[in-house]
Amino acid sequence: MTNEEARPAARLTVLSGPSGVGKDSVIELIRARSPWVWLSVSVTTRPRREYEVDGVHYHFVDRAEFADLVDRGQLLEWAEFAGNLYGTPRGPVEQRLRAGVPALLKIDLQGARQVRQAMSEAFLVFLAPPSWEELKRRLIGRGTDDPETVRARLEHARAELAAESEFDATVINDSVEHASHELLRLLGSPVMTPVRPRHT
Ligand code: 5GP
Repeated sequence: MTNEEARPAARLTVLSGPSGVGKDSVIELIRARSPWVWLSVSVTTRPRREYEVDGVHYHFVDRAEFADLVDRGQLLEWAEFAGNLYGTPRGPVEQRLRAGVPALLKIDLQGARQVRQAMSEAFLVFLAPPSWEELKRRLIGRGTDDPETVRARLEHARAELAAESEFDATVINDSVEHASHELLRLLGSPVMTPVRPRHT
């Protein structure tokens, strides 16, 4: 047996879920408390938000740079979201998995589906709101958007919620503490049991 074969297979875990469900807060808690988890840094064409650090939260690139990465096959998956492009650099993910380090991707639903296609062994976790009412409250309470934008966002969220059954496990974001704890458990656990039974 070669060293390569003897190494425990590290898990690639994908965290996805409807916008507004709180993926960023869960990831931030894991970043702060669990440095043993490697978080993939996506590339994006979205403008940087004030609190974001280039190379930590995202690699910020322009559309030409993004297209070049796509052309050279350097993205494991990519998608357009709200007019901006987002993608996962392939090399760093493969490197971590080869080294036995658990890797976590926080990506949208389109991306999760592509990872499923590209890496059948990836473990897909759906972050769900405690209820539809609660998600609605979070999405509407975000800012001062016009009714049409809010309507479109809610419609999109409904479609995203319907994708839950495509995932290997669901974690309910009733509190960021609890959700990150559950996610960490799944990252370390070799047992692929759904946290919540799938809907039939
Ligand atoms: P935000 O602009 O709020 O940071 O992210 C918008 C959406 O893009 C979120 O749902 C986030 O999970 C998703 N996203 C971030 N990085 C990637 C990526 O590399 N690939 C895909 N497919 N989605 C991503």
